[in-house]
Amino acid sequence: MHKNFKNIDKVVFGRGSFSEMEGILAEKRNDNDKFFLFVVDKYFEGKELAKRIPAATNDVVRFIDVDPHEPTTDQIDSLRDEILAGHGLPAGVIGIGGGSIMDIAKAVSLMFTNEGSSTLYQGLNLIKKPGIYHLGVPTISGTGAEVSMTAVLTGPVKKLGLKCDWTVFNQVILDPELIASVPVDKWLYTGMDTYIHCIESENGIKNNAYSHAYAEQALKLCREIYLGDNAGQTAENDDKLMVASMMGGLSLTYSEVGVCHAMSYGLSKIFGEKHCYANCLVFQHLDEFYGEGVTELKQMLVKHNITLPQGLSKNWSDAEITAMAEVAYNLPFMWHHAIGDDWKEKVNIDFIKDLYKRL
Ligand code: NAD
Ligand code: ZN
Repeated sequence: MHKNFKNIDKVVFGRGSFSEMEGILAEKRNDNDKFFLFVVDKYFEGKELAKRIPAATNDVVRFIDVDPHEPTTDQIDSLRDEILAGHGLPAGVIGIGGGSIMDIAKAVSLMFTNEGSSTLYQGLNLIKKPGIYHLGVPTISGTGAEVSMTAVLTGPVKKLGLKCDWTVFNQVILDPELIASVPVDKWLYTGMDTYIHCIESENGIKNNAYSHAYAEQALKLCREIYLGDNAGQTAENDDKLMVASMMGGLSLTYSEVGVCHAMSYGLSKIFGEKHCYANCLVFQHLDEFYGEGVTELKQMLVKHNITLPQGLSKNWSDAEITAMAEVAYNLPFMWHHAIGDDWKEKVNIDFIKDLYKRL
């Protein structure tokens, strides 16, 4: 069966394009109960960008701290309940931040119109009704959450996305000026998510001319940004990174991610490690699957003076390693893509546990 994907309805790209938001929102203002919900990374509270948010007096602006944990089903359910009870149904949700905030905006836009807990909808095409209008503004680039058809949530049982056509943003504003303030370590880890998306998308049975074209270009941009003669956090590289992030996301949409993402999900679920950092922790040990990619990622780390911890598994119990391996094993489409049609003959819980023990 062929995949049939929905893209973002509209995209604005360019330095200063954040200022387009007011005009873009104007035509939606009178929908539903005539107010917007802005979910904004707490990092921006009191900063210049917060003053530029085109919020009218009846709009609701929520600054959310994304650092304690990745977005949870509880967090989405209570945000939805609280807004509906206190203000009504928004005309739209605007997410200003990284993957965490964009996933919160995507998820809550769906949960405004779908009854019950978001845990009921973790999976593919379980959402029953279209959500409300939602607009995403990335402020850190790499996850591809701005283009993807999923909003990843950690629930009591699963770390799994609300995945369907309606999850995709109606509008995205890509303003590279917004990512200039990202600290170097986060700039690298999040950018490496793009890099790993492309390497994994390319190295597997679902790769095709469509996914390859995006991955090839995004990898070229990553090499310029992180290894080239002008590597580093420059304005030109920020422009490139924003585009690379989007293309990496599109590449995996038309192909699939692989071993690193499967294992990274386990690490995030059991130890709460953030997605991009968890990917880096895992990827450095996956030579036999992605040899050249691993060598190149290590060169990028060295170039930017980032050292990843080693010997982590020494402090993990067998039960913890088993629990992570079970989370990873339950992502069969990633193993299928990475290993091939006979993946079940090669991959089992013990095989994955051995991979975790390398960390
Ligand atoms: P994030 O949103 O978790 O933010 C990372 C850190 O960067 C935070 O401390 C944040 O405050 C800070 N930050 C953000 N913008 C900044 C700026 N301009 N200046 C200074 N600091 C800034 O980061 P992320 O890595 O983009 O997102 C990770 C999340 O994305 C995870 O929850 C993961 O599950 C999710 N994810 C989603 C998808 C998807 O397709 N939906 C794909 C991959 C990952
Ligand atoms: Zn990823």
